[in-house]
Amino acid sequence: MHAAVLAIGGYDDADVRDLEAGFNVIFRSSFDDIQNMAIDARHAVRAVAFKGHTPFGHQEMALLPSLGVIANYGVGYDAIDTVAAKARGIAVTNTPDVLNDDVADLAVAMMLMQGRDMRRGDAWVRDGIWAGGGDLPLNRKISGGRVGILGLGRIGREIAARLAAFKMDIHYWSRGPKKTPDGWQYHNSPDALAAAVDYLIVALVGGTQTCGIVSASVIKALGPKGVLINISRGSTVDEAALLEALEKGHLAGAGLDVFLNEPAVDPRFLSLDNVVLQPHQGSGTIETRAAMAKLQRDNIAAFLDGQPLLTEV
Ligand code: NAP
Repeated sequence: MHAAVLAIGGYDDADVRDLEAGFNVIFRSSFDDIQNMAIDARHAVRAVAFKGHTPFGHQEMALLPSLGVIANYGVGYDAIDTVAAKARGIAVTNTPDVLNDDVADLAVAMMLMQGRDMRRGDAWVRDGIWAGGGDLPLNRKISGGRVGILGLGRIGREIAARLAAFKMDIHYWSRGPKKTPDGWQYHNSPDALAAAVDYLIVALVGGTQTCGIVSASVIKALGPKGVLINISRGSTVDEAALLEALEKGHLAGAGLDVFLNEPAVDPRFLSLDNVVLQPHQGSGTIETRAAMAKLQRDNIAAFLDGQPLLTEV
């Protein structure tokens, strides 16, 4: 019997084991491999377990005529064309909430690393500069500063809650004001938010509607003492403007977990010493990835059992 579940992307051994325990599943690493599947095998596929950032659009969906659900491994589903899916009657699910803590932790860690110059501090010890009598140049106080959250969604709120505990003033921009703890200040544009803070943390969804929201003018408003942290998607930032501002000292620094064209990061980032760079590892802990994989499987199981989906987008 042909498999009803097609897993696309790079799954680790534990995920493969769990998928195989739950379903009649086949694995393919890319859409190119699907084209080579026998036509009756493609017709048998009712659910896709999707992992990755390769665009999943109308053409790819057309290869799988019986497809009823795409269960995305991750909360951000900007790679999936949800309009095309809807037109074909395909539901899309994601994995919200289970990763909020890890992504928020990483945002705070990058901010601390950048502000306290921890990359240089580490090298200072390893390279023997400290042992040779040199003190690390003084860096910058973070607690008590002003932080702006661009996109007060699930992850944005977790970041803000952590930084409130750092005694920071919390500012935010969303598409409208939100119910928040006392003192969190709403700004009516990304520019106004950037002008009001020392640190700007981007926690928006990706996709066309948020593309380039962190524009040259937002970066200018953040200014030469400002630090940009991005854990959302590379697409939300005008990367050319960011690189120029970092290179010319028009922005103090950045902490980036996501990039345009990742993993082929623009080499100009690599020669900057005012940036902390991470390989899109926001949710990358053993515990959280297991929770994401379970939620993905639970959505597929619900679909195949004719039950309501747990986290449909
Ligand atoms: P969420 O709760 O849906 O929050 C999304 C935020 O984006 C909200 O603030 C929302 O605005 C804003 N937004 C949505 N559509 C918009 C539009 N058209 N224009 C302007 N703003 C818009 O999502 P989440 O769970 O916090 O996740 C946020 C994103 O983080 C994900 O989509 C993903 O791209 C990224 N992420 C990255 C990693 C990583 O490894 N670095 C891991 C997980 C997630 P409102 O507040 O106005 O609703």
